Amino acid sequence: MDGGRVGLGSGGEILAGFARDILDTLDALVLVRDPEGRIVEVNRAAERLAGMRRDEMLGRLAWELVEPPASWERSAQDFRTIVRAAAFPVAHEADVATAGGETVTVRWSSAAITDGAGNVRFLVSTGVEVTELRRATRAQREQLRFLQTLIDTIPNPIFYKGVDGRYLGCNRAFAEMMGLPREAIVGRSVYETSPPELAARYEAADAELFRSGGVQTYESRVQFADGSVHDVIFFKATWSDTAGQMQGLVGVVLDITARKRAEHALAGAHAELEARVRARTAELEALKEKAEAADRAKGEFLNIASHELRTPLTALRVTLQRARRELQRGEPIDSASLVRMERYANRLVRLVGDLVEASRLERGLLVVEPARCDLRELIVAAVEDARSLAPGRRIDLDLPAAPLAVDLDADRIAQVLANLIDNAVKYAPPESPVEMTAWTDAGEAVVCVSDRGPGIPATSQERLFTRFYRLPSAMHQPGLGLGLNISREIVQRHGGSLIYETREGGGSRFVVRLPLAPAAR
Ligand code: ADP
Repeated sequence: MDGGRVGLGSGGEILAGFARDILDTLDALVLVRDPEGRIVEVNRAAERLAGMRRDEMLGRLAWELVEPPASWERSAQDFRTIVRAAAFPVAHEADVATAGGETVTVRWSSAAITDGAGNVRFLVSTGVEVTELRRATRAQREQLRFLQTLIDTIPNPIFYKGVDGRYLGCNRAFAEMMGLPREAIVGRSVYETSPPELAARYEAADAELFRSGGVQTYESRVQFADGSVHDVIFFKATWSDTAGQMQGLVGVVLDITARKRAEHALAGAHAELEARVRARTAELEALKEKAEAADRAKGEFLNIASHELRTPLTALRVTLQRARRELQRGEPIDSASLVRMERYANRLVRLVGDLVEASRLERGLLVVEPARCDLRELIVAAVEDARSLAPGRRIDLDLPAAPLAVDLDADRIAQVLANLIDNAVKYAPPESPVEMTAWTDAGEAVVCVSDRGPGIPATSQERLFTRFYRLPSAMHQPGLGLGLNISREIVQRHGGSLIYETREGGGSRFVVRLPLAPAAR
């Protein structure tokens, strides 16, 4: 026992004063036991923990000092197993009841002191209290579990990576998004978990973030594991240890597909609404223009109508006055005056007739009463009337030999024919002939009135049939611009058509088609 050496077999003091003094300065517990487990030496730290003096502890079984009786037997067995196995050094942890009544965890490390024959004589154990360490470790583990539960509960995919770009962890939503179990993500790089082109994008974005530090936000389109493509925003940030060393990055994925879709739908609805408003505004604008045009037309019409009516009326009155004066003077009335008066009266009758028809048309009162008729007779009558109104004018007539049986309203169709011949006579030069031809074609009677006048420019041809439309070149002739409009309406009411054609060699050609009566087809 001299010189601080451990003496063997002394049974009494086994440490010299100096050696024990050194051991007493240690915070670690020191416990020397014989192979039976009886304490042969302890240091001061052990005394403090047990709350006993050394002399009270010597010779006692260690577990009986600090453990509840229930565990003595098991501790004794464990001790014997260790000694018998003689596999040293050996470490183990044990809970120890302190003098203060609390339980602390001690991490023991034991070595054996053997005799020359290799038998264990003493077991030297040093113990370090690790209660705090264990508690901290447990708390840390719990904290980690809590955090994992927390991020697993968040519906947004979340991931975190080390500076080497490998995933350190993720939440459930992220694993679902990737379609991989967490174990197949953690420790892997983007190239092992995402399609190559996406991986390259992610890697570039990560590298940029690691370079610049801080936070990074960007929108992307991502294909989820189920094949669906989503619009997402990545929110990423680097994180550092307490020494400020960058350790990796954390990322949160925000799925904005629904929002995008809603935005898109909203933009669509907005555009549609705008388009509708534009269309409606244009409609209103057009209506307004129409109303203004109608107003203008009404004004012009009144102007024209009064002028058109006044001209033949004035002429009629002048001729009448002259005739009256001639009669008063006992002179015979010049027959030419009578013809003129008749012409003026006819013109008035036509003008008023047009006005009456237009007004009927407007009020929906134009009635067509068809009866079987030979259209040739109406044509002949119309030509005769025209010839008598324009004596000297050449009006050629070419009719088929067979009757043209048509169900028609004779007065109305006569009005159409008269209007067409009248126009040809009016607008073509006086010396030029007017032709009227009729034939049958594909179940229809076709009547054609042609002249060799100026014709009608292509741009005006459709407008001819609108009310009040007159070519500027027609203004020197009497007219209200109603005849063709009424004529087309009448023909259409008969199930037929009235069109304009340019005549070869110049001039106009108006073509009337009327369905032949069923038996005549
Ligand atoms: P109105 O003859 O009373 O003016 P219409 O409706 O019969 O009215 O004709 C409309 C316009 O069509 C005429 O003003 C004229 O400009 C043009 N028109 C009609 N027939 C002919 C024709 N045979 N040749 C040239 N222009 C014609």
